[in-house]
Amino acid sequence: MKPVLDLSLAQGLPCGSFSDRTEHSAGAKRRSAHDGVCKALVFHRIGEPERVPPEEELAKLPGGILPGGEGRSVEGVIDFFTNNPEGVATVTLDGTYDDKRPTIGKWTREGVPPEQAAKAFVPYTFLIEPDGSIHQMLRLDAAGAHARGFNQSGYGVAFIGDFRFEPPTEEQLDSGVAVCVALLHQLKGKVPAVKLLSHDEARAAMGQGPKECTGKHFPLDAIRKRITDESRRNS
Ligand SMILES: [Zn+2]
Repeated sequence: MKPVLDLSLAQGLPCGSFSDRTEHSAGAKRRSAHDGVCKALVFHRIGEPERVPPEEELAKLPGGILPGGEGRSVEGVIDFFTNNPEGVATVTLDGTYDDKRPTIGKWTREGVPPEQAAKAFVPYTFLIEPDGSIHQMLRLDAAGAHARGFNQSGYGVAFIGDFRFEPPTEEQLDSGVAVCVALLHQLKGKVPAVKLLSHDEARAAMGQGPKECTGKHFPLDAIRKRITDESRRNS
């Protein structure tokens, strides 16, 4: 399989610029293999909201605080997953967040060990910025680390922003549709054999509880319908 997305397969759908960032870190270059079958495209949110949410919204978050550190750009997300103690722990350690908490505390005090940072990578195959720019972060033949049960047999498509508090931009949604339509063609996959899931739906399929990913302001059913309709039209 060609390891980089061929966006021309989206056949003229509107979308932002494309960047191949599959060598963004040492860890990204030595990912284990994807199993070559695609069961699902899984949508995520990553990054901070454009504006600080109102107090009453913040109060509903775990611990009443807005986590952060990823920013709202691809460079911020790369920095978070390859330098930030929490980000590096997320992609290089097994177990739940609670299992990782003592290590995150140690790394926050002492710094992330270089051998651990060298394994780190952005866990999604695609990142889409608020201006619609598309960045391919992992090769199509490399496993992601975005949703249990779908890392070797699915692809993570992450939209930058916090859709618990704000909607994604139109440019972002257009690019997301184009990426998914092109990807389905390139993989010779079709909906509904290939499922289009939010991270929370992927988690539910594995018996895990929700994490508000993608969040209530993400138009999940509308983007699913656009991808389904466009991929039928183009086939
Ligand atoms: Zn997610």
